[in-house]
Order: sequence, then C-alpha cells, then structure tokens
Amino acid sequence: MSIEIINIHKQFGSFTALKDINLTIPTGELVALLGPSGSGKTTLLRIIAGLELADQGSILFNGEDTAQRNVQQRQVGFVFQHYALFRHMTVFDNIAFGLHVRPSKLRPAKTEIQAKVQKLLSLVKLEGMAHRYPTQLSGGQRQRVALARALAVEPQVLLLDEPFGALDAKVRKELRRWLRQLHDELHVTSVFVTHDQEEALDVADRIVILNNGRIEQLGTPEEVYEHPNSPFVYDFLGNVNLFRGRIHRGRISLGSIELAAPDHIDTLDTQAVSFVRPYNIEVEREGKGQEFIPARILYIRAVGPTVHLELKREDTGDFVEVELSKERFRELNIKLGEQVFVKPKDLRIFIPEDYVI
Ligand code: ATP
Repeated sequence: MSIEIINIHKQFGSFTALKDINLTIPTGELVALLGPSGSGKTTLLRIIAGLELADQGSILFNGEDTAQRNVQQRQVGFVFQHYALFRHMTVFDNIAFGLHVRPSKLRPAKTEIQAKVQKLLSLVKLEGMAHRYPTQLSGGQRQRVALARALAVEPQVLLLDEPFGALDAKVRKELRRWLRQLHDELHVTSVFVTHDQEEALDVADRIVILNNGRIEQLGTPEEVYEHPNSPFVYDFLGNVNLFRGRIHRGRISLGSIELAAPDHIDTLDTQAVSFVRPYNIEVEREGKGQEFIPARILYIRAVGPTVHLELKREDTGDFVEVELSKERFRELNIKLGEQVFVKPKDLRIFIPEDYVI
C-alpha cells in the first residue's frame, strides 16, 4: 500500500508541531522519520495511523483519502518502544490476539491461527518460545513478539515508534539488521521513527529528517549523509568538522585557507562556515600554498580498515578529525606530535542566515 502525506499541519494550542508536511511513500518502502526530540516524528506517525487528527491536509492510502477510515480500517500494524505485550498471556496468545478479537465472520479457524502463529514465530526466530510469558523473555525477544503480533493481522502498513529504543546498543544493532532482512522478505510499506542517526542510515530506504515540525531533508541514506542540504543536517548526522571563516571582497578565508567565493555570494561581507567529513580531508607532510592548514597530531587510532587522526590546527587552535586509508597512513609515515598539513575537499559554504556561528 502506498502512502501519500499531503500538506499536513498540526497545532497543539499555540505550538506548531507539524508544518507543510508533504511526502509520498511507494508500496514496499521502508522510510525512517529521523529528528531530535520534539521534532514531530511521533505526531506524524500517529496521524498516519489515525490515532491523531491533523488540523489540515490529508493522508491517502493507495490514492484513497483515509479521513473516513478508523484505525482498524486503515490496516496498520503498530510497534511501540515499550513492548506493550499482555503480561498475563503467553507469547502464542500475544501473537494470536489480533486474530482472536476479529468479528466471528472474519476470524480464522483455530487450526489456521495455530499454523499462522507458528509461521510468525519462525519468522521472528522465536520457535520453541510459544508458551513462555513476556517476563521470561529478554527485551529483544519481547520486541520480536511485538513485531510478530503486529504482523499477524497482515497489515498493509507497518508503523514502528522507536521500536528498539529501550534496548542496549548491541541488541539494537542486531535487531535493526534483522528488521531490514524481514522487511526485504515481506515488503510491507513501513514507517520507522528514530532519533538515532546510525539506526536510520543502517535500516531505511529513505530518510525524512524532521526539525521543528518541518521536513529539513528527504533522501536515501547516502544522499543525506554525503550531501546534507543545511547546516542542521550536517550537525545532526554528526561526524563532521566545522570550519569557521569569513567572506570578504569575493574571497573566502577559513583560517589560513583562502579561496574564491562562489558567484552567488561573492559580493557579501559576512561570516561563513563550512562542514567537512573526516574522510574528505587530505593530509600531506608538506604544505603547498594557501589551501593547506598546518596542524599537529594529537591522537592516532589505527584499529580497523581506516586510521582515525585527531589534529589541532595551528592557525585557529580548532580540532580536526581525519580518516585515512591504512595505505595512505603508511605512505605518510607520520607520528604522534608531528606537524602535518591538512586540506579539506568539497567545501560547501553556508552564511549566517542559515546558521548561527
Ligand atoms: P521524541 O523523540 O522526544 O519522542 P518527537 O519528535 O516524536 O520527539 P513528538 O512527540 O511528535 O516529537 O512531539 C512534537 C512536539 O509536540 C513536542 O514539542 C511535544 O511536546 C508536542 N506535543 C506532542 N503531543 C502533544 C499533545 N498531546 N499536547 C501538547 N503538545 C504535544
């Protein structure tokens, strides 16, 4: 089932929780709603589910307005952060719950329910646990039961609100990879709320980045990570170096680096800022011209396929993080405490209207 979100606006009293939200999710896509606390992720999810009403705008499922459909009629499955399992019911009964409570005409026969629950148990890798109670399961296992329960009614849309938020980092990582595999098997259109950047980058086909109730950027994980379109997205996705400077007489100076300002901003006289990922910084033993910044090596971590360096710029005193391939690191033959020269690549300049420096 495809989902179209058209011009959604939501107000709580005088507070605007969502503004001008437009988004189309094709059938079978897994979309992450990512943003800081209070950015409107859960509110948007609840509006899609029909648990909350928007003040303006509409939600279409397969092109049909859902305004007249209640939560049951929308055929959505829901998984929350806190398992919300029935404590007094076994795993089997928890999963079968949605089937048991159907009106008698739509309720499957007992043997059919039995077969279906067994199939779901194997899908979520909990075979042999049908007769346990939720208190006899780990957090990760409980969340898999919650997912099996949501899937039992064969939803056309699966909505997940921080489903792994209450679990520890290792289990989270395992479960999100597993969720991705499960999604690739079932192809249920899914919307996944998270405030964890890595989780969204790992799991989603596309990421919607929300900030103050607006969509800040929408794109594949690669697009949003490699080409953020605002300082907020750079900052929020993290793992980035900030270079401060100014634009003056058609030139941009960022510490000791100087370069020509792009045409559309070359007449400005203002502060400027740029963001550069650690793998987009070149390191040389010798500085050449004004494109290189002298910096001293404070820290080297050479574990894994790449080498991480932390440096202190000698022009501004700011810290810079750099990621190099092992080959390049060996070639440079650099040691802790030595001076090197760094050069940021792919500089994108933002001016203070976009960002407060
Ligand atoms: P978190 O990651 O903390 O769950 P979120 O991005 O999911 O945050 P929402 O829960 O959608 O954010 O809330 C968005 C804003 O709307 C918040 O500032 C919140 O306080 C406010 N809000 C949400 N529900 C209500 C409500 N029923 N009444 C008043 N304000 C609300």
